[in-house]
Amino acid sequence: MSASRILGYAAQGVGQPLEPFDYAPPPLGEHDVQVSISHCGVCHTDIHAIDDYYGITDYPFVPGHEIVGHVSAAGRGVSELKEGDRVGVGWQGRSCGQCEWCHRGEEQLCLDIVPSGTWVPYGGFSSSVVVDGRFAYLLPAAMPSQVAAVLMCAGIAVYSPLSKYFGESSRKVAIVGVGGLGHLAIQFAHALGYEVVAISSSREKEEQALAFGADRFIDANDRDSLRQLALSFDLVLCAAGGGVDWEVMLAILRKRGTLVLTGFPDVDCNSTNLVARELTVTGSFLGNRATMREMLAFAQDRGITPEIELMPMPQVNDAILRVRENKARYRIVLVQEAAGAAAPAG
Ligand SMILES: [Zn+2]
Ligand SMILES: [Zn+2]
Repeated sequence: MSASRILGYAAQGVGQPLEPFDYAPPPLGEHDVQVSISHCGVCHTDIHAIDDYYGITDYPFVPGHEIVGHVSAAGRGVSELKEGDRVGVGWQGRSCGQCEWCHRGEEQLCLDIVPSGTWVPYGGFSSSVVVDGRFAYLLPAAMPSQVAAVLMCAGIAVYSPLSKYFGESSRKVAIVGVGGLGHLAIQFAHALGYEVVAISSSREKEEQALAFGADRFIDANDRDSLRQLALSFDLVLCAAGGGVDWEVMLAILRKRGTLVLTGFPDVDCNSTNLVARELTVTGSFLGNRATMREMLAFAQDRGITPEIELMPMPQVNDAILRVRENKARYRIVLVQEAAGAAAPAG
């Protein structure tokens, strides 16, 4: 059954490098599963949390919320999973089950969301986590574990708004930022049927953006090309962490268009365009459980393939540095040594 101690990597204070940290497994509740982790992706949000950007981090802090592993123990009330099942777990590991949003099946908006994260008490840069079995998703058998890991956060973060806004009046999208989230957003948007324009300040990403499925690439510093795109898009999806010219992004939206944020950039814009053109600026947080399952099936069916660098989990600080320096192409997944490097699960 469950190992007696969990070995993780924890920050002991704000902005600190991670250090090996072992702890007793949290108690296994009736509806919980313990997941023995083989892979965990590195997300910008992990680094924000190490730096206490959101003001909710408790130290010692074990990051990690793009988790794949096998169920190693299941509570008595778990009926849909059994020991040995390969599952993915994202940022949300539980929900209160009582509030208005949980009743509506929109658990990502649960009023008790802060203590619901996989980080509480400790996250996926570790040998195992304990979560509510309803938030551990069975994975398609042919999907490699490192691919599934990245889909658990970066994948759902972009699939959820792209699928929600796709419709009769919304067939043309600008994806801002071609990084961990953006390179997946381009693939999902193309597969959903959007005409896709990728906008990035990294000119060298043009060829890859087109290969991911963009119909066109625009250099974010090319003011003339951006001016020509004025009033062009129903939807602008911001997948960049910062460095965005918000007035330009509003200018390329059609009237009543929508700008969706998927990360946590600081937003600064004038209200004139918002009011006079009836624009919407909104956010999208994770996705509900139904959308998570739909996303996994869609990604498998349509061959959505994140670009991944694999690194052994003990090199977690090198991985974090690569993400901090914006060098990851495009997502780093940490692998437990026992899991065997890049072998696709099957
Ligand atoms: Zn994330
Ligand atoms: Zn709730």
